[in-house]
Amino acid sequence: MVWSEFDIISLFKSKKTAPYLVRGIGDDAAVISAPNKGESWVMTQDLLTEGIHFRRDWISARDLATKAIAVNLSDLAAMGATPRFLLLTLGLPKTISDAWIASFARHFLRVCAQHKLILIGGDTCASDHDLSIHVTAIGSAPTRNIVYRTGAKDGDCIYTSGSLGASAVGLECLKRGVKSSIVEYHLRPPIRTAFAQAMAAKGFASAMTDISDGLLLNLESLCADSLQAHLDRTAIPIDAMTERVATRLGADALALALGGGEDYELVFTVPARKEADFVCWCREKYYGVYKLGKMSKRSASHREKIILWDETHKEISLKGVKKGYQGR
Ligand code: ADP
Ligand code: MG
Repeated sequence: MVWSEFDIISLFKSKKTAPYLVRGIGDDAAVISAPNKGESWVMTQDLLTEGIHFRRDWISARDLATKAIAVNLSDLAAMGATPRFLLLTLGLPKTISDAWIASFARHFLRVCAQHKLILIGGDTCASDHDLSIHVTAIGSAPTRNIVYRTGAKDGDCIYTSGSLGASAVGLECLKRGVKSSIVEYHLRPPIRTAFAQAMAAKGFASAMTDISDGLLLNLESLCADSLQAHLDRTAIPIDAMTERVATRLGADALALALGGGEDYELVFTVPARKEADFVCWCREKYYGVYKLGKMSKRSASHREKIILWDETHKEISLKGVKKGYQGR
């Protein structure tokens, strides 16, 4: 049997209630009420397209469902928002089986439940060839806690929420048909929602973004026109497995950590005067964070947004390093 659009939609329906939710799946549109006083809605959308973002022979329906949610939660986390609602639009080619759709739907709803998210609508349509998955995520946050890309200042310290490069090394393994458990980092990105929300509530971060396109490219977006990020080569967090598998592939782990992308960690700045409290708080809560360097004013003679230093304080050229993944 091949399911109709109606059958498919019914897989995604649930009767769950949630704060702010007036009407979910089933009418022409969902209804959510105005945010509480002093709060804002925070919204984002991400598209996963077959052949560009994933290959169906590399990723299961289960992992794809999780990743479609994770990449959106990463954007909400980067603002310090609490994720609340999702909309899901599926472009389904004829080559997708009902069993695949059922597995996708089951895991999608399971991950929603894990993160207290409600799926409130979307669209389902046929696609000529490729599978596409659009997720819109809606979160809320106290307006004054929201962390933007624009708040970094001269002297702020630069941190990430985790180590880098494993996703890119995993992708290399998939491309080359090399078997390694590191591919998990590519297929199942981390979700830093709890850390980001807690940090935003504490007001530690002056600016933040997520590392979807690669550290260099994403960190550049925190520099605006006037700042320059100084990174220490020895501080770039690359775990032992990433180094080991990269070496086996003959790949440069540092280049992949700087430019590879899809780590879905957060990169953020902390004002120097808050740093001691921030570090204490991370220890207390068991949040593993890594300090990469510092922001300074951009020098007139050296206009690069990012400068990488080695342990003898010599500059390492970033000329040959791919800056990251760009949508086009
Ligand atoms: P319309 O034809 O007016 O766009 P649909 O029949 O597509 O309406 O959708 C009916 C309901 O099902 C709506 O509430 C819509 O948001 C929801 N819906 C459709 N597709 C999905 C999906 N893939 N995931 C979740 N909800 C969906
Ligand atoms: Mg529709």
